[in-house]
Amino acid sequence: SAPENVALALNDVAFRYPGQTEPALRGITLDISAGEHIALLGRTGCGKSTLLQLLTRAWDVSTGAITLNGERIETFSEAALRAAMSVVPQRVHLFSATLRDNLLLAAPEARDEALRAVLERVGLEKLLEGSGLNAWLGEGGRQLSGGELRRLAIARALLHNAPLLLLDEPTEGLDAETEKQILDLLTEVAKEKTMLMVTHRLQGLMRFDRIIVMDNGEIIEQGKHAELMASKGRYYQFHQRL
Ligand code: ATP
Ligand code: MG
Repeated sequence: SAPENVALALNDVAFRYPGQTEPALRGITLDISAGEHIALLGRTGCGKSTLLQLLTRAWDVSTGAITLNGERIETFSEAALRAAMSVVPQRVHLFSATLRDNLLLAAPEARDEALRAVLERVGLEKLLEGSGLNAWLGEGGRQLSGGELRRLAIARALLHNAPLLLLDEPTEGLDAETEKQILDLLTEVAKEKTMLMVTHRLQGLMRFDRIIVMDNGEIIEQGKHAELMASKGRYYQFHQRL
């Protein structure tokens, strides 16, 4: 069964994709306590999504160890690991199926009222116009915009309601106003949860307990917004460039 709280630890983790000569991640050591909210930042290709993919076991570490509540993640069953985490991937998959089925895959037991309520929370109630939850999506049906896809993925994560939230650029493709609404919503639902959010947006990072900046497969700095601004490192430079 799923743990109620999730603490994560990465101990000197390195990872190299098959066929690559350079590692995508090196020397990653990180302790994330239960309930902590972390933003993961860094330029494109620095390894942010790869790090999340090691946590979901899409890939396994080359060296080092990842533990969840003190136990190596390899010791969890696939079902237990899935139950422990809600994931918003960078590339969201839309199934050619009804709106209902596109949501139920995250929470097979959910009732229609719950599905409608979550669509409203993420601002997708307009998808309910017409055929409602029976609306056909994907091939042979309605296509979703990039922003709608992000919100569908967030709706799935909310329905799944696991104690660990892993979010890869959840607000990409959303306008500033919607982005703020979604960040507010995520902060609220993650109140009692552990949250790791990959982002390249600099707005709204004050609300995170810790910001981790990566470069070239490594962690180069971490701290709270004010600390990182004061230390005038990479995070500060990102802000200057804006
Ligand atoms: P972005 O901000 O653009 O999403 P990222 O920080 O998430 O970037 P990753 O997707 O983790 O970056 O990629 C890290 C490095 O690993 C990159 O050099 C990328 O080209 C490489 N990489 C990613 N996926 C694979 C793969 N399946 N096989 C080989 N190399 C990969
Ligand atoms: Mg990425």
